Amino acid sequence: MDPSPYKDALLRKRGEILTAGGGVKPVPATIEVNSRQGDLADQASGNNEVHIQLKLKQTDAKILQAIEEALYRMEKGTYGVCKDCGEEIAPARLNAIPWTRSCITCKEKQGS
Ligand SMILES: [Zn+2]
Repeated sequence: MDPSPYKDALLRKRGEILTAGGGVKPVPATIEVNSRQGDLADQASGNNEVHIQLKLKQTDAKILQAIEEALYRMEKGTYGVCKDCGEEIAPARLNAIPWTRSCITCKEKQGS
């Protein structure tokens, strides 16, 4: 298969994440939590927004990692092959998630 259309998508997505990540500034609430360690429970309930931001950043980091791996597989010529069953991943799935490592069948078996 020719992975070049997916490579473009991967590089574009990587650029988006890096641009967005570079614009994230430290959240003042985090400093407040550090200075008031006595009542973390109270703080936690008021910091949902911070938690969401951290979660998003973790997701971005995971996607970035997956993108790097996908680019590596392109160089090796194994891109687009399911890591679990060895079958080719459907183009529609690669179009939607070009950094995916497993086909839809295996993904559904994992239950996630
Ligand atoms: Zn599979």
